[in-house]
Amino acid sequence: MSRAKLRGLGIELPLFPVTSVGSFPKPDFLLKARADFANTRIRLGALEKAERQATEFWIRKQEELGVDVLVDGEMYRGDMVAYFAEHLEGFEEGGLVRSYGNRYYHKPIITGEVRWDEPITLEWWKFARRLTSKPLKGILTGPYTIMDWAFIEFYPDRRTACLALAKEIRKEVEALIEEGAKIIQIDEPAISVRPEELPVAIEAMHIVTDGLPAYFITHLCYGAFESIYPGMLDLPVDNFDLEMSNSGLDTLELFKKRRFTKDISFGVVDVHTHVVEEDQVVEQRLRQALELLPKEAIWVDPDCGLKTRTVDEAIAKMQSVVSAAKALRAVTSDK
Ligand SMILES: [Zn+2]
Repeated sequence: MSRAKLRGLGIELPLFPVTSVGSFPKPDFLLKARADFANTRIRLGALEKAERQATEFWIRKQEELGVDVLVDGEMYRGDMVAYFAEHLEGFEEGGLVRSYGNRYYHKPIITGEVRWDEPITLEWWKFARRLTSKPLKGILTGPYTIMDWAFIEFYPDRRTACLALAKEIRKEVEALIEEGAKIIQIDEPAISVRPEELPVAIEAMHIVTDGLPAYFITHLCYGAFESIYPGMLDLPVDNFDLEMSNSGLDTLELFKKRRFTKDISFGVVDVHTHVVEEDQVVEQRLRQALELLPKEAIWVDPDCGLKTRTVDEAIAKMQSVVSAAKALRAVTSDK
């Protein structure tokens, strides 16, 4: 188990640590500031002030709720791929395209050599870090997903583009670690879509994480896990953050056939519905995880980012996650 690794990094966590996948909804005042900035009614400084206020709002909220490993909430990001493409050299903004989940984004185009010139998320991580004494995840979009969601003009093939991106994303990881980040999440929601490219994603993740002193998590959105499991366990990370509840926990069937060997951030609430699950439902999901996985290996969180929910729904869903973790801690520690 990776509890020893966390302890080695100076992090003690309770049983069933509560975290979230990364994004929270933007409060109304920030949505307004973003619209005003887009229409040149306010300057960048005013927008950034609203982003800082919103970040502080979510840090306080997570602390009040009793979350164990915090996130900055990604108040400064629009799209998770476009944000990194805008901050790396070698990209141009492409036209608006529609992807799954009714998500519209400007699909970036790789028109030159990709290059990390300066930290991308670091200032936000440091800002959030000053607001809390709890562990705070660094969260980056992974090279495979950036490559997959971009048009590639400059590189001869997808693998070459992916590995070039991995070398640059590693620099952001190193910058975070240098400032004290100990838990780093590399989001790779695109990994489950093309099983034949899993080896490329694994090769890229090695480039991003090998030899670095941090506890690594990767978030995979729900997809064709049956076609990449158990091979995906070769991704060199400590913890898989998986969307479990939206599909009725069917991924557990795969774990019955072949043991799941890493830590898991187990999604116990569905992020695609306005409905806030009853506490008993969420607890029951966690109990089902416990039937197959060692308790020391289980973290709990929502299925995916909560950015598409309302602020109130996101808070209520996080509340359910915390309640389930507390309820199970109480009964499990009796044993
Ligand atoms: Zn996801």
